[in-house]
Amino acid sequence: MKNAIIGIDVGGTSIKMGLIDREGHILHTQESPTPVQEGYRRVLDVFNQMAENLLQESAYLWENIVGVGIGVPAFLDLSRGIVIEAVNLGWSQVPLQEELEQMWQVPVMVDNDANAAALGEMWIGAGIGTSNLICLTLGTGIGGGVIINGDIYHGVNGSAGEVGHITVREQGGRTCNCGKRGCLETEASATAIALDALEQVQKMSAGPLKEEYDRMGNITAKSVIELAKLGDSTCRAILEKAGIVLGKALANMCYLLNPEKIVIGGGVSSAGDILFDPLVQAFHGAVLPRVAENTDIVAAKLGNQAGMVGAAWLIRHSREERTPISGFSNS
Ligand SMILES: [Zn+2]
Repeated sequence: MKNAIIGIDVGGTSIKMGLIDREGHILHTQESPTPVQEGYRRVLDVFNQMAENLLQESAYLWENIVGVGIGVPAFLDLSRGIVIEAVNLGWSQVPLQEELEQMWQVPVMVDNDANAAALGEMWIGAGIGTSNLICLTLGTGIGGGVIINGDIYHGVNGSAGEVGHITVREQGGRTCNCGKRGCLETEASATAIALDALEQVQKMSAGPLKEEYDRMGNITAKSVIELAKLGDSTCRAILEKAGIVLGKALANMCYLLNPEKIVIGGGVSSAGDILFDPLVQAFHGAVLPRVAENTDIVAAKLGNQAGMVGAAWLIRHSREERTPISGFSNS
């Protein structure tokens, strides 16, 4: 009987793979470093080995697998399942869906990693029970997924939801990976927070942040968050600034989408109230009460499993799954 799905989340540093049942429960997981330097073919080999291990550990066979969903940090041609460009993986113009279907002989669905994370949160995470939501992942960059009426909104060529590149600063600011300046991502991602902290360190002669820098030789967003939680005012101010920028950007998104929930995940969201309080305040300061009155801003729940679960959702809600297939009872 076909009763499980494999979900894969491919990142620049690690690959997460999960065996997931039709209700979204995670049965087993595998994780492996991404061999980016060894190229696309080697990554496919790793996928295959991980899938074999996953099935073996959970005593499943390929004949039990409905399909494989995969989230990739990339611009995609969704109609053909082609990765147009995945900068962090060094992939360009690869027919991922077709090659995985040939390798495994099951249906494969491909989507962007941030979209997959949004779907995961909607299915079994912080967005459960809602069908209109925006999901932001605050990591090295800022990923976004827009869900309208229970499905991802892709736009005309798959680039809807790229909210990290919304311009939030008129002048100045750092240059973004996209080549522009003043993007949300260069103001409020983990990278931006670390760079803000480094700028502050240059002006300091003492203090916890300076000590951290002297000890580690660098500053990460994680250490800024830890120091902020210990009460360091400089680190709190850096996170508050990021929260305000995010809150205003989300207010603008709400005028367009009027979502039921805004789900915020990624490493930076672990700052908790230090980030969320100024964010929510800035959000309500910038949006009309009528527009925001039914919108909740919540922290993501699935952590780094959201992408893997959401990738499985792609198969669960694909055309094949909506039409009952042989040996398969739709509950
Ligand atoms: Zn940008």
